[in-house]
This record gives sequence, structure tokens and C-alpha cells, in this order.
Amino acid sequence: MQKKGNFLLMDKSEFRGWLAGQKITRTITKMQVHHTASPNYVTRRMVNGVAQQDHFACLEGMRNYHLSEGWSGTGQNITTFEDGKIAISLDRDLNATPAGIRGANTGALCIENVGNFDKGGDTMTPAQRETIVHLYACLCEKLGLTPSVNTIVYHAWYTADGTWLGDYSAGKSSKTCPGTNFWGAGNTKAAAQSTFIPAVAAELARLKNGGSDVKKDEIVAVKVNGKKIAEGIVDCGVTYIPVRAVAEALGANVAYDAKTKMVTITKEGA
Ligand SMILES: [Zn+2]
Repeated sequence: MQKKGNFLLMDKSEFRGWLAGQKITRTITKMQVHHTASPNYVTRRMVNGVAQQDHFACLEGMRNYHLSEGWSGTGQNITTFEDGKIAISLDRDLNATPAGIRGANTGALCIENVGNFDKGGDTMTPAQRETIVHLYACLCEKLGLTPSVNTIVYHAWYTADGTWLGDYSAGKSSKTCPGTNFWGAGNTKAAAQSTFIPAVAAELARLKNGGSDVKKDEIVAVKVNGKKIAEGIVDCGVTYIPVRAVAEALGANVAYDAKTKMVTITKEGA
């Protein structure tokens, strides 16, 4: 954890513990989802996946821009980065109403995710994806909120004057934010319901379960033609089963090439 200028920068692994120590003095019922559009992975000068620009330089740059717009401080409460780091705005801490969505900031928390996640823009790194899911899950836990499209809201679901649309509507929405390709699915309510919200819900369940990755009741039996042949696990809504046991039980051959990291399944006559 590093404090410099107007920001506190921390690793994903530090956030839950830090948040547990914070006293929330206002009612927060909505967590906004934004992308910064600019700065983005290009302005961060990514070389082999590592940004050459300092986190604090990026953060102070955003703050200076917001101040130049006449705002009282950094617009957002929290910022996430491509390397998974999280920054807290010290001039807009969790108890300060953000400047995130004009006309819709009361009772809201503003989270800006650095990147341009419109189609044709940046492809979100796995590190940032994991941090974002964890961040919203920790906030749900702390604020007593259930992940839903009413508690985790995309900027695009509002008009320019802050009227709630509840979905992205080209021409009516003020912006495409958090991006027409956010989470690889887009900025619509349906996209959020099928991708991002379940991911946050699964992470919240994992946290409430003590943070362990595999629960006993997440172990599933795998049956082939009525006979139990192996066990698999369900983790974050995805079922993992041992492919070799299943394929061989179905009479197929399984080969794994460690060099190309390729599993090849072949069945004669198929
Ligand atoms: Zn936005």
C-alpha cells in the first residue's frame, strides 16, 4: 500500500482488509461502473503488458482534468488499473458523494476502470478483470448490497441529465461507458445480467464462504452412461470435469501436448 499525493494505491489482496477498517458514514445503495476511455491502455504506454506510465501520474492527471472542469476534486472514489492495482481517491473518499453520473450521484459510489472498453478499444487484462470482480464483491459485502442491475449500475443506463433508463439505449444514453465491449459482452442490462453481475455474485459467495476456492458442495459427480467415473468441481459458476476420464469412458483417446498446451481428443470412426 502506497500513499502519494491525493491517492492511496494498493494491491487487490489488500483491498478487502483495508475496506473492513473503513467507517462508512453515508448510505450507499449503488455502485457505478465506468471506464475512463482516456486515459487508456495506449496512454498508459503498455509494453509487453506492463504500463510505462506511473500510476500516480495517471491518477493526478485525471484529477487535474476534473479540477479544470471546475469539480471540487477527483470525480471518482475508486480507480482500477490494468495490472490489478486499486487506487482510492483521498480527496473523494468513500464517504464523499462522487462526480460520476450527473444528476445520479447521491447514494452512489463511483468506480473508474482505466481503459477504453468500447469495441475496437482495449482488451481488458485478466488482472484487471479479477480485481474489478473482487472489488465489487468486497463492496457488496461491506455495504450489505446484493449484486444486481439495481446495485451495480453502468453509466450508460442513464441519460445526460441523470434520468434512469435501466439499460443502454443508443441516442438516449449519455455515454457508452463502461464500453460497448465491456466484459467482452457490452454495456447493456442483458450483458451485465449474463456476465458481470454473476461473476461478482460468485466472488461474493466465495468471500462469504471464507474465501476458499472450492466448497465441498461444489464437488460434482461425473457420470457417463449411468456410471460414475470421476468427480469435478463447480467454481464461480463454471463446471470443471476431468476430460481424460470422461473422453476415455466414451471410448475416445486423449493426447496432451505440453509444448502447444493443446488437448486433442480423437475417436475412431467419428
Ligand atoms: Zn462513465
